[in-house]
Amino acid sequence: MTAEIIWDVTVFQGSRARCVIGKIYLIFKKLYLLFGGMDFIIDQYTLARGEPLLLKVYCMCGCELVTYQKDGPGPLLRCYLDRIRKGDCGGDRLACSNCNAVAGWLGTYLKEKRLAYFLEDGSCQIQECFPKSL
Ligand SMILES: [Zn+2]
Repeated sequence: MTAEIIWDVTVFQGSRARCVIGKIYLIFKKLYLLFGGMDFIIDQYTLARGEPLLLKVYCMCGCELVTYQKDGPGPLLRCYLDRIRKGDCGGDRLACSNCNAVAGWLGTYLKEKRLAYFLEDGSCQIQECFPKSL
């Protein structure tokens, strides 16, 4: 899968915070180059939340559900559809193809008007992975 890198530069235009955001942008860009072309999506959400990570989300049965880019620290509560880098997305639920267990339900995160799977507590296992293994 070839995922595109989105450098959303329009965010940096015409804002008092431009200087600070610009610096953060450069840090991400440096990291990007340092790791030889990581294919993270970098946009306003990434900049607001912090450094991105790639996670593999598994069903409790061990079957892989999705590869997901998480922006910033903290527990994984939602999987935004625009951050699912590999795996099934589009249905009303995030379900295991092996055991049919439902890991999350599709909904809209109202604060940002973004579609996401809201994960059920204890329904999945998460493992960090290196971007090259996408
Ligand atoms: Zn399963």
